[in-house]
Amino acid sequence: MSSNITECELEQRLLAVAEERRHHFLQTLQQLDAALAATLQAMPADEWADYPPLAAWPQLQPQLNALKQVDAALCQWQIGLYGLCSDCEAELTAEQLLQDPCRQRCDPCEQKYGKAQPVSWQL
Ligand SMILES: [Zn+2]
Repeated sequence: MSSNITECELEQRLLAVAEERRHHFLQTLQQLDAALAATLQAMPADEWADYPPLAAWPQLQPQLNALKQVDAALCQWQIGLYGLCSDCEAELTAEQLLQDPCRQRCDPCEQKYGKAQPVSWQL
């Protein structure tokens, strides 16, 4: 990575985003179903997004997707593939990662990916 941003800073940022998203998610869930929130708190945080009972709350899906992104980024960090485009394996810049620590794609691939998504799924 060619900049003054160190790997350590990127890791701190990624962990901070993970912490923030998980905290926010739990707060939201607590208002919907306090018992379920308590169950999740006793589970490893990287298993939350795939916990089947959460599928009963469609309004949680955007946050669950955000958690999945964080889980994927943390997993990539652990196996040493963090910061590589998931499509073409180009190295993302430290600036891009600092801006969005869960970023999965370089600009050209992001554009292609965005175009490939059907518009109607957001309805
Ligand atoms: Zn790419």
